Amino acid sequence: MREFGYVRAATVAEAIGLAAEGPVAYLAGGTNLVDLMREEVERPRRVVDISRLPLSAVEDLPDGGLRLGALARNAHVAADDRVRRRYPVLARALLRGASPQLRNRATVGGNLLQRTRCRYFYDLGAACNKRAPGTGCEAIGGFDRGHAILGASESCVAVHPSDMCVALAALDATVNLTGPEGDRSVPVSDLHLLPGDTPQVETVLRSGELVTSVDLPPWPPARGAYVKVRDRASYAFALVSVAVLVQVHEGTITLARIALGGVAPKPWRAYAAEELLTGAAADERTFGAAAEEAVVGARPLRHNGFKAELARRLIRRTLVKLS
Ligand SMILES: Cc1cc2nc3c(=O)[nH]c(=O)nc-3n(C[C@H](O)[C@H](O)[C@H](O)COP(=O)(O)OP(=O)(O)OC[C@H]3O[C@@H](n4cnc5c(N)ncnc54)[C@H](O)[C@@H]3O)c2cc1C
Repeated sequence: MREFGYVRAATVAEAIGLAAEGPVAYLAGGTNLVDLMREEVERPRRVVDISRLPLSAVEDLPDGGLRLGALARNAHVAADDRVRRRYPVLARALLRGASPQLRNRATVGGNLLQRTRCRYFYDLGAACNKRAPGTGCEAIGGFDRGHAILGASESCVAVHPSDMCVALAALDATVNLTGPEGDRSVPVSDLHLLPGDTPQVETVLRSGELVTSVDLPPWPPARGAYVKVRDRASYAFALVSVAVLVQVHEGTITLARIALGGVAPKPWRAYAAEELLTGAAADERTFGAAAEEAVVGARPLRHNGFKAELARRLIRRTLVKLS
């Protein structure tokens, strides 16, 4: 690991002030950043430790929603009674991620902004446009089994690895940010960018911006599920995952949300499938059509053609179970 400067910020204003002076890496739980620094994939010159900032509360919002502090631990959020009762899809997604030890350390903000697990990104000897722009993408034509089938580009086929983000996308969560230019909020589905020809730019975050919290809007009673398929039963990233929320009234679907993980560079909302479901009869024919619609435009690579079929089956099966 290379030498770097380290400062522990006591207040949000101090953290932002330090970032305004020049590039910094914010350190939250450190479960991703420290690995990346150890492997020299990331070489920040200054690290600002934000882990002691007062951003770890889970609070009710006046509109009936819930605010998750950026430093709330994944384990804490998953165990929160309000999350379990009102947003069970989120609790389930969190509990499918990593391991108990990691979830005790990992934070909401860090989970949102964790980097891809693409092996070529971590391999300093491999060409990777995300790590070293302009060098190429060795994943294309390489071992691409875990890579993207939707939203990828000629420059990058890496997937976003988070489980939590898939549930947040289905729940229409909003990410609250503060930075040298002030405060703003971004829908979680707009936070991560598709790679295009600049895969090194992964989010809409501006220089020095800090995630302060994530807001969950109030949700009508809907049945929900998070289903994750992976190579091992635990401690593995998703090959394909799906967060589904559905409400059925007298045999008609009145609300539907579908987000996919493990298939794209960002949590992937299946908007067209949701539209197809809304107002339709809650039957196997509709579910099959929605599952087809969710992967329209998929472009499998050499070794990951199975992901499209897996996504279809997961969606169909989950809808049948929930309705
Ligand atoms: C072995 C292993 C298995 C894992 N398996 C899974 C899995 O199955 N599913 C899953 O979803 N995740 C998994 N993870 C990833 C884990 O969830 C993330 O490492 C964790 O969520 C990151 O949170 P952190 O607080 O430790 O972030 P850090 O490592 O501290 O930070 C990660 C990134 O976010 C930035 N950052 C952090 N907080 C903020 C903030 N508030 N504002 C702005 N920037 C910020 C940091 O600068 C850094 O770039 C796994 C990790 C490991 C090591």
